[in-house]
Amino acid sequence: MNKSIVNQQSIKQFNTNKILKLLTSTEMISRAELAKQTGLNKATVSKITDELLNENLIIDLGYGMSSGGRKPKLLKFNPDAKYIVGIKIGGSDIYFTVMNMKLEDVFTQRIERKNNDTGIIAEMLRDSFNHAIKKLKIHTKDIIEVAVAVPATVDIKGMIIHAPNLGWKNIDLAEEFKDVFEGIPINIFNEANAGALGALNHVNNPENKNLVYVSAGIGIGTGIIISGNLYRGKMGLAGEFGHNVIVENGRQCHCGRKGCWETYASEQAFYDSLERKGLTMERNITRVLEELENNNAIALEAINELSAYMNTGLENVARALSPDYIIIGNKLRHLKDYLNICDEIQGTKILFADKDSHATIEGMGFVITRKYLYRDRYTVNS
Ligand SMILES: [Zn+2]
Repeated sequence: MNKSIVNQQSIKQFNTNKILKLLTSTEMISRAELAKQTGLNKATVSKITDELLNENLIIDLGYGMSSGGRKPKLLKFNPDAKYIVGIKIGGSDIYFTVMNMKLEDVFTQRIERKNNDTGIIAEMLRDSFNHAIKKLKIHTKDIIEVAVAVPATVDIKGMIIHAPNLGWKNIDLAEEFKDVFEGIPINIFNEANAGALGALNHVNNPENKNLVYVSAGIGIGTGIIISGNLYRGKMGLAGEFGHNVIVENGRQCHCGRKGCWETYASEQAFYDSLERKGLTMERNITRVLEELENNNAIALEAINELSAYMNTGLENVARALSPDYIIIGNKLRHLKDYLNICDEIQGTKILFADKDSHATIEGMGFVITRKYLYRDRYTVNS
């Protein structure tokens, strides 16, 4: 392709993006107002909006109110133009979602996962998928991508290198689920990376922000965002702060090292600690919260220890990367009222995520919709 065609195309994409950004951030808008706010001429705006109407990405609402003169025709972004399937495979369950282009859930299902067999999981997903398609009355062609978040190291090509809590090693999950989703592209994400992208969607001026998302669940995963982009490192495996040693010659970790942060400050480590102290109970956060509410002395002692270990690891992250924010998500965020976590370390603000599964799902949707709408260069793989 010659250079001038490339330039014309990139200018057109740039102008389309300007218009799309306004359309996605306002309820409804006229062509004249689009021209005014983007600084583009009316003919360019008409041409681009006609194309967007043809793609069904926007809807013509007809005539709006006039402030004198001719009544303007109003346009609206169509959130239901396309859909994304978001799946989070967790320690004990699977969260299955279909979201629209505004990242609103239009279908959700929580599936109990009692088995790690990928073939069995594929069949569970097939049931959910068929149910969703039927309920929403949509076709597979209406779905842009299927995004799957896994608590695993995932390489740059989307291969699962190791998912210790699922017992998976070197698995091509996209290949395993290919038949279920009838040819829709499947993207495999590291769960913490997806959470980091979800957290990014909630900060002001995301393109300028640095943040680290700490997924404190069965293990500890971290996702790193630098200047609004996911940082994945050479092999796609960056962000393994969970395996930073915080206690020399400490507890044995499945990674082969001893004293890793996740062996002291993950959900699993917390349950182990409660048991060692003599409090044996069902391993779930709701039960732990009940004990804390009842001022159980063992639970309170364990959570003080957990807070100290969390703070040590958070300080390592803050000192290493000095991001704007560190956001704690996944299961342990439910303990935020009892954890004594530093609010700020050397200028880095420490916050808790609002929702757990949803941050992950939203993060994947955020990347996929951006890629689809703006054809931009956000890192697409996990
Ligand atoms: Zn480790």
